[in-house]
Order: sequence, then C-alpha cells, then structure tokens
Amino acid sequence: MQFKSTKSNKPPVSFKEAVLRCLPHDGGLYVPSSVMDMRQFFLYMDTDTAYPELVSTVAPVMLQGELNPFSASRVAESAFNFAPEVQPLDERFSLLNLYNGPTGVFKDFGIAFLAAVMEELLKNNRRVMVLSATRGDTGVSIANAFYKRQNIVSVLLYPSGPIRGLEAGSFISNGGNIIPLQIRGTFDDCQRLVIEAMNDRPFAERYGVTTANALNPGRLLPQTFYYLFAFIKLKKLLQGDLIFSVPCGNFGNLISGLYAWKFGMPVNGFVAAMNANNAFGDFINGRQFKPRRSMPTASPALDVSAPSNYERLFSFYEEAPAVMQNMVFPGAIDDRTTLETMDYVWKEYHILLDPHGAVAFAAAENLASRRNDAHFVVLATGHPAKSAETVARATRQYPEMPDKLAALGKKTDPVALIEPQLSALEAAIASCF
Ligand SMILES: *Cc1c(COP(=O)(O)O)cnc(C)c1O
Repeated sequence: MQFKSTKSNKPPVSFKEAVLRCLPHDGGLYVPSSVMDMRQFFLYMDTDTAYPELVSTVAPVMLQGELNPFSASRVAESAFNFAPEVQPLDERFSLLNLYNGPTGVFKDFGIAFLAAVMEELLKNNRRVMVLSATRGDTGVSIANAFYKRQNIVSVLLYPSGPIRGLEAGSFISNGGNIIPLQIRGTFDDCQRLVIEAMNDRPFAERYGVTTANALNPGRLLPQTFYYLFAFIKLKKLLQGDLIFSVPCGNFGNLISGLYAWKFGMPVNGFVAAMNANNAFGDFINGRQFKPRRSMPTASPALDVSAPSNYERLFSFYEEAPAVMQNMVFPGAIDDRTTLETMDYVWKEYHILLDPHGAVAFAAAENLASRRNDAHFVVLATGHPAKSAETVARATRQYPEMPDKLAALGKKTDPVALIEPQLSALEAAIASCF
C-alpha cells in the first residue's frame, strides 16, 4: 500500500516514507493512495484468533513489499501485550473495549504498533527523532511504546505545568532514549514547534524528524485492526446489519473504521458520536463546516472545535459523497444524556462505561430506534477509572483503579525547560545525536 497527500497529485510514497516524513510538503496529510480488498485474509478467520495473530496476518498484506510475514509477527508480538476485548451485551449491542493498554485509552493501540513497525522498518537505518507534542497521557503512551526501540530517540514536548507518569529510568540522561522537554508556552506552541521542525527541511534532514502525533498515518492503519477483530469475533452472532458507534474528537478513530470498510470489512455504517461540540456534524450532513469555539463537557477528549483529520475525512467525501451520506451517521449527545446513559448501562448490564463510551452508546441507541435490524458495536475508548469522578457522579460506583493507571499521576521533572523555538529545541537535543 502506498500513500498520497490529500492536497496534491504527486506520485505516492511508500509506507516507510509516509511514516518517517509524516507531513507532505504541500500542507496535506498522508492517506492510502489505493485500497485493496483484503476480505479473503480475514473473512474466514477463526473466531478464536488472537489479536497478535490477526495483526501478523493482515499487516503484511497491507504493507506488501515493506513488511514480510516474519517481520510482521515480530512487530505484532512486541507491540501488543494487551488486546481489545469484544463484549456482546444482547441482540442489539456489543462493546468493543479498547482501554486495556498501558494508559487506558484506545490511542495505545495505534502508538504501540507505530513504534514497533518503525523499529522494524529502520533496521540498518540511521537514527531518527520522533518529536511529539503532548499534555498528558499520550506522552506516557508514546514513551512506553518507544522505550528501548533501536535507532529511535523520542522527544516529548510538554506545555507549562506538571509532567506526569513518565519513568525517569527511560530518559536519555539515564541511558534510555526518551527526552521530555518542557516548553515555555501552551500545548498549541508545542504542536506548532513539531510542525515547524518537520517542515524545516535542513533541520528535519539533520535529525530525521517525524512525529508520533495523530498526523502520522502509521497510527491510523493499526486502528483498522481492532475493527476487523470485532468483526471476526461477532460474525457468527450477526444476522442483520452491523454498525459501529465511535466517539469522535479529531476523527482519527472513525477514519480508521472507514478504512477497515474499504479493506472489505462487511459493515453497514458508522455512528459519528459527538458531544455538544458537534459542528462537524454539519459537514457530515453535507453542509459547509464552520468551526465553533469548543466548550467543556463531561467527555473532554471529544471537545474539539476543528478536527485535525478534517482533510482525511474530506477526501473520503470527495471520492463518493452519496456513498458516504449512507455510511456515516452523526449524533450529538448532551452531558445529561451521557450521565444518564452511564447509569442505565450500569443498571442494565452491570458495566461501567467512561463518558466517551457513554456518548457513543447513547448515539447508537438513538439510531437503533430507527434501525431495529442492526447490531451496534459501541467503542469504549477510555478506561472508566480515568474518569472516576464522572462515573461516580452518574452511577454512584467508584471504578477500580489498575496500578498502571494510578502510576500515570506521578509527577516527574523534564530534562530541560526551553523557549518554543527551533533553535532552543536544537540546543537541547544536539548533544544526544
Ligand atoms: C482521543 C480520544 C477520543 C477521540 O478519538 P479521535 O480519534 O480523536 O476521534 C475518544 N475517546 C477517548 C477516551 C480519547 O482519548
């Protein structure tokens, strides 16, 4: 599979190049340039197939010529010591629990694969710098996934404020390969610096700069694996239509689902579940997208005013607007309904959902009243213990906190504090290269 920019008709590039360069020079984002039908590789898979096995079967097909089956199984084994969990509730609903990774959010799946596949692709290569902006647990996920990866140094840019959850033993100063830097500025300043570093050609060439932020197409591809996993686990139970309900912030998760569909996964639609920050629903409904200022809600990971994957979603709609109108159903859920849904799911199924999963559940329920032939798979993207206060407010239950998630609260000191400028970044990292 090759990758092209959403903005130009330049010749496509390899997966390796898309992952290592990350941003095309025309201001677009990388998306697969053609999509193969992979049905024969997963449709008849045994229901008992383990997750790493599924990954090591489909990844070498997607990345033919770049990742052979032996490499793919090495990648799958080294990336995933955690797995998605499919939990059927009744005839209408199942959950796809994606919060069993090191930081308790679905993003662990994409990041873990990206780190492992990058190490594999970089065999016999020179060293690269994975530069990522973060303000919290994504940084821990990245540090975890990239720790000890050969030929990779992972630089994390944090805004002002405490840094939590990192293990000082993984820092470059202690023999590891992780460099946390604090920027005098905001999260936006951190993001700007990442983009600037990738777009400054001499700098990017000198250090081999790429990022583990969601801009990297190497995070979207592995997110298709868990949709396929849910499908093979449920296929025997399914009689009517299959619809996934996805809580959407920057829309990376939803886009991965759309790619799984393009790869041949038999699916009838996706609910794009949003909270009160639902301006993007207008775009999905065929109207012009006008970003509105985001407002805080009970499901903060969805409080996004201008989704960073707008370009990628736009390219889907450009190709086949009529098909897309029938594939993606936007839904908006207010906070009250989110909390009521958490309470309902607890009482009805004895399951604690985090507020993001609850938004997806409520949006699925709304559509279910019109689609009584369909089975809905609701993506539970966050561990309930990470939103313990909200969960307790809604259900009067305190979710148990796994030790690894409790450790995310531990404060650490950065390696350095710098101004949000490329020269300052270079001065801070030069001695490590
Ligand atoms: C990031 C996040 C989302 C949103 O995912 P996108 O790919 O940005 O749409 C949903 N739920 C949780 C718990 C998240 O952390």
